[in-house]
Amino acid sequence: MAERKSKKSIARRLPIHDFQDDIVADVRRSKALVVVGYTGSGKTTQLPQFLYEAVCSKHGMIGVTQPRRVAALSVAARVAQEMKCTLGREVGYQVRFDDCTSQDTQIKYMTDGCLLREFLDDRELSRYSVIILDEAHERSLDTDILFGLMKEKFLREEEDSVRRHQLKVVVMSATLDSGKFSKFFNSCPVFEIPGKLFPVKDVYCNMIKPEDVKNPSYCSQAVRVVMDIHTDQPQGDILVFLTGQAEIEKTCDILYKKSEELDYREDVRDPDVTSLLILPVYGSMPTEQQQRIFSPADSGVRKCIVATNIAGTSLTIDGIRYVVDSGFVKQLSYNPRTGLDTLQVVPISKSEAIQRAGRAGRTAPGRCYRLYNREFYDQCMPEDMLPEIQRTSLTSVVLSLKSMGIHNVLRFHYLDPPEERMLLEALKQLFYFDAIDRSGRVTPLGRLLVQYPLPPGLARAVISSGSHGCQDLLLPIAAMLSVENVFIRPAEGKKQVEAQQCHQRLAHLAGGSNDFTTLLTVFQKSKESDSPARWCRENYIHWRGVKMALSIHQQLQGILDKQTQSADFPRQKLAGSQSELLRRALCDGFFNHIARRSATGRSFRTMDGHASTVFIHPSSVLFGEEAQLDWVIFHEVVWTSKVYMRTVCPVRYSWVQDLLPKLHQLDLSSLSGCQL
Ligand code: ADP
Ligand code: MG
Repeated sequence: MAERKSKKSIARRLPIHDFQDDIVADVRRSKALVVVGYTGSGKTTQLPQFLYEAVCSKHGMIGVTQPRRVAALSVAARVAQEMKCTLGREVGYQVRFDDCTSQDTQIKYMTDGCLLREFLDDRELSRYSVIILDEAHERSLDTDILFGLMKEKFLREEEDSVRRHQLKVVVMSATLDSGKFSKFFNSCPVFEIPGKLFPVKDVYCNMIKPEDVKNPSYCSQAVRVVMDIHTDQPQGDILVFLTGQAEIEKTCDILYKKSEELDYREDVRDPDVTSLLILPVYGSMPTEQQQRIFSPADSGVRKCIVATNIAGTSLTIDGIRYVVDSGFVKQLSYNPRTGLDTLQVVPISKSEAIQRAGRAGRTAPGRCYRLYNREFYDQCMPEDMLPEIQRTSLTSVVLSLKSMGIHNVLRFHYLDPPEERMLLEALKQLFYFDAIDRSGRVTPLGRLLVQYPLPPGLARAVISSGSHGCQDLLLPIAAMLSVENVFIRPAEGKKQVEAQQCHQRLAHLAGGSNDFTTLLTVFQKSKESDSPARWCRENYIHWRGVKMALSIHQQLQGILDKQTQSADFPRQKLAGSQSELLRRALCDGFFNHIARRSATGRSFRTMDGHASTVFIHPSSVLFGEEAQLDWVIFHEVVWTSKVYMRTVCPVRYSWVQDLLPKLHQLDLSSLSGCQL
């Protein structure tokens, strides 16, 4: 057994430390345990170490799931540091496209999606002794599915009591309504880590009103409130909740400027905090930046962290006394009106608002500045968020379940079942992709699709590119679509114009008529460059995004190469230029995202039976060129003032005419009548 190293020198004493023995005893005693405790009580970083020290990992690893990638990376790094080991040895992490574990790994932090993929290979999870489902209150789609899979595993173990491998599950949650989790696992014990929050005073700033719900603007308001806190309020760090990377960067830009201006004006400052340290925090944040958000600021410096919801409960940042809450969150939701998953900024729930405010009261009394007014809180915020499983498309999850041999997806063990309509929709999509047959069974093609850590549509396009022989063009695009937006768009001024010109030049270089090939050009140009990082900087491209895409590309290439070596791989030689073959491969993956221009104007209509009106996003190279277009496919839609297609490519009717009837004629009863 590896030498158990003491961590006490680094970790402060946290509330959970008083209960180490009790928690370990509870885990030993029962198959399932729910642990509830305030954010910051030490659940995520300490509990796995308790189990490790108690040699609970004797029969396998301790696996800890996180709904967010950044959380998995950052917590693993922290725990490795506390245990004084190299990250990737005893403590490791695995997230999509990035595996930092080894033979020695005993504590493995990973995204819930990664564990879900492990179930595909081994439904017994025989490499693990304990699975910790963390942040269960977030109710992410993959965590919810893991609940069901764990339950299935327990039922199998009961049937077969001689089975040696007995897995344990610990569910961790930051909110107290844990009854549902316990009930799900046969009313298992619940351990509450006692703790208290200091009082937080709510200040309603009255800047956002119920009528602003559809089109809110809160960045400049947030800046104003931050600067007021900084000049008027005593010591203590500030945490601002916004919704996405672009607006966080924009807000930080304005804050840098304002705080610089302030540095020259000694007269306006009341408290003895001299300067403001502004730190952005979002999902795709580079690792180097992560550590800075946790380090305490120098004396006299006030930290201001501008974050997405990730700072709600996933990452605990100490020293926060002031929270500035925009009241909004960016959410992926299935929109029944358009039949598409739409990324949309929506009001948070009341319970989320309370969680956010709580971040100000962890170590001392604090204040929460709510940019909205009381009416907005009462009228526009739901009590709780719908769990993700009830609001996003289930295509990917249904394919995973079916590939594991769980055919009856309607009767799976759900914590909260999705609507039947959504399950049927998922089956329909899978049928379009030829991933399942009419009787609902996974096809050979479906088995190829599920091997890619990609959404089924994109995986379908990858396979088609292999069939048509245009993978050299498509794989880089698939990789670029798997990272966050790589185009840097400065908020204002000379740089904004410069960036626009750069991006236009790149689009032009790519042929100027297709956003997918613009991505390809960015990929190729940076790869060819002697200094890719510099090339990206000069062209207003996020280098870390491209760097990630380069690595993803290699992984996708690896999977496809293996598949094409097999005799079963579907091959279809088509005539046409490479760029035409590329667009046809894209059609195979996104033909349910096809739209036709309306007879008049700049609008398009989707062709999947919903016939919703959509527009080309202003960031597209085709924006303004609508009159030249007829049929297009798109990667995704965003819904701001209108429903916009983002990343668009013109296609020919002749390429999709055979596919389109499928979208309309599919008789759902033929799918629902079969074994679901
Ligand atoms: P919980 O899961 O109960 O919310 P955590 O285990 O995440 O609590 O956090 C416990 C403590 O560890 C907090 O004070 C937090 O600030 C600290 N911590 C967590 N991650 C890091 C990190 N990467 N660097 C420094 N401190 C960290
Ligand atoms: Mg936690």
